[in-house]
This record gives sequence, C-alpha cells and structure tokens, in this order.
Amino acid sequence: MILVIGAGQAGLAAGRELRLAGHDVLLLEAHPRLGESWRRRWDSLRLFTPARLSGLPGMPLPGGDRYPGKDEVADYLQAYAARFDLPVQLGTTVTELRRTGDAGFEAVTGTGIHTGDGVVVATGPFQQPRIPDLPLPSGIAALHSADYRNPDQLPDGPVLVVGGGNSGVQIAAELAATRPVTLALGARQPVLPQRIAGTDIFTWLQALGLVRAPVTSRLGRRIRDRDPLIGLGPRGLRRIGVRIVDRITATDTTADGPLLRTASGQALAPRSVIWATGYRPDYRWLRIPGALTDDGRPRHTGGISPMPGLTYIGLPFQRCRGSALLGWVGEDAALIARAYTAQRARSRPR
Ligand SMILES: Cc1cc2nc3c(=O)[nH]c(=O)nc-3n(C[C@H](O)[C@H](O)[C@H](O)COP(=O)(O)OP(=O)(O)OC[C@H]3O[C@@H](n4cnc5c(N)ncnc54)[C@H](O)[C@@H]3O)c2cc1C
Repeated sequence: MILVIGAGQAGLAAGRELRLAGHDVLLLEAHPRLGESWRRRWDSLRLFTPARLSGLPGMPLPGGDRYPGKDEVADYLQAYAARFDLPVQLGTTVTELRRTGDAGFEAVTGTGIHTGDGVVVATGPFQQPRIPDLPLPSGIAALHSADYRNPDQLPDGPVLVVGGGNSGVQIAAELAATRPVTLALGARQPVLPQRIAGTDIFTWLQALGLVRAPVTSRLGRRIRDRDPLIGLGPRGLRRIGVRIVDRITATDTTADGPLLRTASGQALAPRSVIWATGYRPDYRWLRIPGALTDDGRPRHTGGISPMPGLTYIGLPFQRCRGSALLGWVGEDAALIARAYTAQRARSRPR
C-alpha cells in the first residue's frame, strides 16, 4: 500500500499514475472536499496557463486556449478523482508520519493510523503564510494574500500590497479599480507577457524546452532563480495608477497617525495592508530522522528522498518549472510511480 498525503492536483496525479502501475493506493486529504486549495483563492483568479496546458494525465481540462477560473479547476479536480475512481479519504489530516520497525510507514490521523510501505508527500507548496516581523500600528487592517477573496473585505481608503510576485501584482491590479493602491517590491522579477504574437507564453516556454529544463542543468537553475511574472508587472501596474515603492522596513505611529516606511525612507499611510509575502514550509509532522534539511525542507533529488519509500510531488522546481504546474506535474507523478515499481521489483523474493 502506498499512502499519498494530500489530494490536490499533485496527489491526484500521483494516485492515478501509481494505480496505473498496479500499486494499491490510499489518498489522505485534510479538506472535506476536493479542490479546496483552488476554491479558497481569490474570487477573480484565472489561471495563467491556458486550459489546454492545464490538464492532469489522462483527462484534458476543457477550454482550449481560454484561461479557466479557479472554481473550474476545483471542479475539474473533483471530476478527475471520480473518473479514475481514486480512493480518497477526505477530512483526514496526517498529524504525524513515522517509520515502523519493518521499514514501512505509519501516518497518524484524527481517525486512526494508516500503514503503508511507501508514502508520497503531496501536501502542496503553500503551507504557512509568511508575514514579515513588522508589528503594524493599530488602525491598519491587515490580511495575508492566502485570506484575500475580493475588494469588499477591505475598508475604504488606500491599500498597501507588500510583495510583487504573481499574487501581489494581481491583487494590486484588482484593488486599483476601487481605491488608491501602492505596491511595495523587494527584488524585481522579470516579466513575460501572457501572449506573444497571439500565442500563449507557456506554449512558447514549452516549445523552447524551458518548462521542462531540469534544475540540475544551468538553464533550469537560471529559470528557478529568475522565475518570471506572467502577464502583468510593475510597468503595467503603473499604467493603471498603482504606485510602486521599495521594500517596507519599518512601522511607526506619529501624531498624524500610523505609518509604514520603505528602505529608501518613503512614508506610507495606508488604511489596509495585504501581505503577499509568500509561504514558509511546515513539515513538523514529518517525523522521519534525516528526511528534512536543517531549514525544514524536504531532502530529495527530483522528488525521491534518500529514505527508501518516501517521495514528494508538487514541490516548486522539484525537477523543473513544470513540477508545480497542472499541465506538467503528471510527468513527475509517472517518474515517482516508476520508482515504486522498481522498489517493488527489488523487494520481491527471487
Ligand atoms: C495564486 C496562484 C495561481 C496559480 N496559477 C496557476 C496556473 O495558472 N497554472 C498552474 O498550472 N498552476 C498555478 N498555480 C500553481 C499550482 O498549480 C497550485 O499552487 C496548486 O494548488 C499546487 O497543487 P498541489 O497539489 O501541489 O498542492 P495543493 O493544491 O496545495 O494541495 C495540497 C493538498 O494537501 C492537503 N494537505 C496538506 N497537508 C496535509 C496533511 N498533513 N494531511 C492531509 N492532507 C494535507 C491540502 O489540504 C491540499 O488539498 C497557482 C498558484 C497560486 C498560489
């Protein structure tokens, strides 16, 4: 039995590939419904990959060159699990994963312990929202991008969005239609247009071999280190009235009210702040000695851990840019299924 922890797109793709290879599989999913990590994202979110490049193995996501909304993706994931009859136990959070004496694994959940001779960790790249250690003065409402749904959540008045990745840029653009918006940027990322010469950018990136360039190659590492924004960047935001400032480094309360200050000394007085500052990994439940690096990240090569039987799927740049994208995660899933098949062959008595 192979346990797959997490049934987002990565876990579902792994489940399907493992079953195809003849393995017994059980998927353990914390949420009570499939597709929840997509459903919980902001209301207006559309994919930056077109539908025809956003399908998991064996079942295309309908929509061709269209950019589907987030609920469409969630519905698709539910349909995917049903289509391949994947055994998913919903509402089941793994609170501890440990080794058993006979080189197997035990996954502890609120409803019991599941055992397996292999475990695929598919718990997603976005775990604990990261919020900078900058105490906000009272009077400023604050939200992490993980909790942002739509502009109605925020009080009227100026908003400061902190963080200029794809999420920060898109949220800033949405808010700019209804209120003054400032975006505070740390390091600048390159920006690629959504379409070039009428063709979607991911079609070009795929044709040029950039989506699949392995991180073990120089090209793959360059892509990882300079991961571009897709569609909109600071220049496009300026055109719709968003003010761009540098990194926020201090907060302050003055006689005129609460202030935030940037590294270059600009003072900002927003009514609300959105932290689009990313996530930090949280694998404290993974109690397998040696499985994590000193900074708490999975130790692995292309998703295969040095601990026999333990693998990962869906990590950002696990193998290449495509590893954490809908349309390419299936390729990593197939590789992982092959690794378990090899393990099974080695353990069979001759
Ligand atoms: C704003 C945004 C836009 C994106 N747009 C695109 C796009 O256009 N195209 C694209 O291809 N990709 C896009 N992505 C990237 C990627 O496809 C998604 O982040 C995707 O949700 C990652 O899938 P996953 O299965 O690895 O993780 P998740 O979707 O996070 O799934 C992990 C699952 O594991 C479960 N889980 C976690 N811990 C436990 C536990 N201890 N026990 C049991 N279950 C657990 C969670 O409940 C969750 O269901 C986008 C990401 C973001 C944030």
